[in-house]
Amino acid sequence: MSLYPLLEINLATLAENSRRIVRLCAECSVQVVGITKCVLGNAAIAAAFRDGGIRIIGDARVENLKRIRRSGLDVSTMLIRPAMISEVASVARVADVSLNTEVETLRALSRAAAEQSSVHRVLLMVDVGDRREGILPQDLPCVLRSTRDMRGIEVAGIAANVGCFGGILPTNANHRLLADLALQCRHIGFGMETVSTGGTATLELLENRSLPKGINQVRVGEGILLGRNPVRNRTLEWLQQDAFRLKAEIVEIKAKPSLPEGEIGHDAFGKAPKFKDRGRRKRAVLAIGRQDVDTEGLVPLAPGIEILGGSSDQVVADVTDSSCAVAVGDVLEFSLNYPALLRAMTSPFVRKRYVRR
Ligand SMILES: *Cc1c(COP(=O)(O)O)cnc(C)c1O
Repeated sequence: MSLYPLLEINLATLAENSRRIVRLCAECSVQVVGITKCVLGNAAIAAAFRDGGIRIIGDARVENLKRIRRSGLDVSTMLIRPAMISEVASVARVADVSLNTEVETLRALSRAAAEQSSVHRVLLMVDVGDRREGILPQDLPCVLRSTRDMRGIEVAGIAANVGCFGGILPTNANHRLLADLALQCRHIGFGMETVSTGGTATLELLENRSLPKGINQVRVGEGILLGRNPVRNRTLEWLQQDAFRLKAEIVEIKAKPSLPEGEIGHDAFGKAPKFKDRGRRKRAVLAIGRQDVDTEGLVPLAPGIEILGGSSDQVVADVTDSSCAVAVGDVLEFSLNYPALLRAMTSPFVRKRYVRR
């Protein structure tokens, strides 16, 4: 396999970010679930989460949870996307707990778990406003009651999610709704051991001590991985942002006019590109593209380098104002945002290297 593109993953940094988040949450008696869906359920990364004190790993894909299970890591596992009815048997086998919203799925899970002579734990996901998955609050008691006759499952609590689909901000109000719902469920005889929220955006409720009492679990992915709160587009200063570095090799350096020549149609991805005329510029072509990474989410680490765009396999950068010399064969370094990291982790073309200090 080619040496580049290369994604360097600093496991010590990931463990440290985990540790800091676990510490903040512990002050409020809140447990942390480390979410690995952005990193393909990578076992080394999950182990770094574990080193930082995280005891539950959550992922949206059964395949990813299987990877973590196979690695033998001593953590419990959570499936954070509602199970597909077609996969309930593996969900019951691989996940200790899953987030679900549909009575039919719960029934199928219950049967699958009973056939395996086990009891599968579920958290019922409620929609507190983000309008992705979730039972509407008024429907929750009815769904809960319908689980009473399901032998293979145990409802361990409820969960909510903000800031993912609708971009809803975490507030004391939408979390009070979650905490109140848990109370209501207790009144009709359900234990509600776990009251879970997520994702990273909800850390701000812990930072400013406004998380309502009764919520005892937070699911965090991006905060650990990138040290950022996506919903506020804000760096979390008390965390580290440099756990991931992407390196790509330069395959061409030439001074060229900054405008394309000829009639302009659409580019390879159906967009009509727009460029500014800045005269002749020194441009680098990098051996990396959209098959490897979301090129819009790359930020060059060296000052004075600007990414102009990319196609499937090449990225063009303006290096005229680069503070250090750049030549063919040199390697440029980039930090990545969440979509860029997601694709780099998923791409078979990106070599991964672990750094442990
Ligand atoms: C993705 C996801 C999370 C984690 O979100 P981050 O913003 O990456 O922390 C938590 N819970 C659910 C249900 C998710 O889908």
